[in-house]
Amino acid sequence: MTRTPIAKRAENAARCNMPSYAEAVANFSWENARKQLDGLPGGGLNIAYEAIDRHVAHGRGGVRALRWLSADGRVVDYTYDDLRRQTNRFANVLRKIGVAKGERVYSLLGRAPELHIAALGALKAGAAFCPMFSAFGPEPIRSRMEIGEARLLVTNAALYRKKVEAWRAELPSLRHVILIDGADDPANGVHDYRRLMAEVSEEGEIAATGPQDFALLHFTSGTTGKPKGVVHVHEAVVAHHITGFYALDLRPGDIFWCTADPGWVTGMSYGVIAPLTNGATLLVDEAEFDADRWRRTLQDQKVNVWYTAPTAIRVLMRAGAEAWKGCDLSALRLLASVGEPLNPEAVEWSVEAFGKPFHDNWWQTETGGIMIANFPSMEVRPGSMGKPLPGIEAAIVERSGDSVRVVDKPMAMGELALRPGWPSMMRAYLHEDARYRKCFVGGWYLTGDLAMRDSDGYFWFVGRADDLIKSAGHLVGPFEVESALMEHPAVAEAAVIGVPDPLGGEIIKAYVVTKTGLAHDEALQRELLGHGRKRLGAAIAPKTIVFRENLPKTRSGKMMRRLLKARELGLPEGDLSTLESDER
Ligand code: ATP
Ligand code: MG
Repeated sequence: MTRTPIAKRAENAARCNMPSYAEAVANFSWENARKQLDGLPGGGLNIAYEAIDRHVAHGRGGVRALRWLSADGRVVDYTYDDLRRQTNRFANVLRKIGVAKGERVYSLLGRAPELHIAALGALKAGAAFCPMFSAFGPEPIRSRMEIGEARLLVTNAALYRKKVEAWRAELPSLRHVILIDGADDPANGVHDYRRLMAEVSEEGEIAATGPQDFALLHFTSGTTGKPKGVVHVHEAVVAHHITGFYALDLRPGDIFWCTADPGWVTGMSYGVIAPLTNGATLLVDEAEFDADRWRRTLQDQKVNVWYTAPTAIRVLMRAGAEAWKGCDLSALRLLASVGEPLNPEAVEWSVEAFGKPFHDNWWQTETGGIMIANFPSMEVRPGSMGKPLPGIEAAIVERSGDSVRVVDKPMAMGELALRPGWPSMMRAYLHEDARYRKCFVGGWYLTGDLAMRDSDGYFWFVGRADDLIKSAGHLVGPFEVESALMEHPAVAEAAVIGVPDPLGGEIIKAYVVTKTGLAHDEALQRELLGHGRKRLGAAIAPKTIVFRENLPKTRSGKMMRRLLKARELGLPEGDLSTLESDER
């Protein structure tokens, strides 16, 4: 799988926030990272202050903080001072209607500035904020609000009526619903956002939160099972800021586009917090994914840094690199990807399409921020996740009972482990203490992902521990097989699972989505089987290939191999509340 590394020009590397990885690692301390932020004027730490008010205090209130592109073509700008005043108002609204410190404020909204205002305003009021993806159905919404004992929900009239109203009375913790566009019925705990915002002052104190106070509740994607509620605290902002600075190279004035929805941890940590603490302008697009719109947005908005996900990149690849010819992307400095393994093919494709590679980085809801990255100043090794952030110790380990052994041998497979202690590390799985404690063994946090490290310290993703396949005496990660299939010009996307073999072990089965217009016939099947054998050798090549129109994914765009496997084996399908398409 080793491809030619993509080197960096020295003069470009020198201009990056982190010109030298070795130097940054040698000089790093979390204490110094904390000093890049101000802290609350009266002491304490609050994410929203660092994201917004700090810039205003330093005379940058007139800088554009957020540009919203509405689905119907409007462009609305907010300066840092606009955001300061709006979030003050929202915090005052929460105080007025009686939301206490640490209580949970939820949102169920599309990508609109009211979501950013609610999130940062709730943090200013000292509440904990939990964003929910607006495409969820009533059940996943209800279970998330029950787990977090939601006190208040910010949504719109249509979503409220369709997904919440029917069961609202059964959730006694939920006292208030605020509708950003809706009818006012205070007697029944339904309030009009605009009225509430107009009734309060645009000035106000920020709650005196401390670094360890509960700030954000995020649910995991539910790729491997029932989503977990992950608790983060205010000092997470130190990691958001420094990882945005190093891994995404964010600079004041940058136009930054994170395509993840703020309903997920990426969309909150990097779609809201990190770009603001770094003084960038964040671009928020209300519309759903559309390749032409994305091309226009990158060009017309002069995006400097683009952070997206493999699932979107693979769709863009289907149209070929030619689709980008004639697009003026001269402003685009960095392309980054997260969420799933990025196939080497995709990295090479981006060089062809954009003249620049995608920079993969790795993290989880639990880690709260980027942990491993292809830093902009380093050469990119296609297929590798990169190197650990300064301040992060990562290792490949092997579990044995109650202890772990660090595996030093280059390119030996083991579980990816991190030494706990960085500020954005989760503080709990809400109401699942035993599960939380199980993640820590022998002084390490075990991520549940398998990986390898090469002799230069680059990490290579193998697969989730749950997805590992045992085939003919080999341990095979689905990513390697899927990436090999992706190299074939007919393949747009692939998912690979192990199916128990009567002779012992598992045989490898691949589900393949082809590029549009190709016949799903036996000839192509044979060709792909042959391609697999040639690329991977008979032992780990797929033995069966089936064509599919779509692959099951979570709503955050991750391949749900567990569902393919459950269906293959006729087993219970488990929690499907986060399944993207309604193919139940
Ligand atoms: P759940 O924990 O509910 O099963 P999930 O693990 O998909 O869902 P997230 O926290 O959103 O929930 O995703 C983190 C996981 O996504 C990582 O543990 C890893 O498996 C995968 N991932 C994220 N980034 C990368 C990457 N760059 N390369 C490979 N895998 C990645
Ligand atoms: Mg997970």
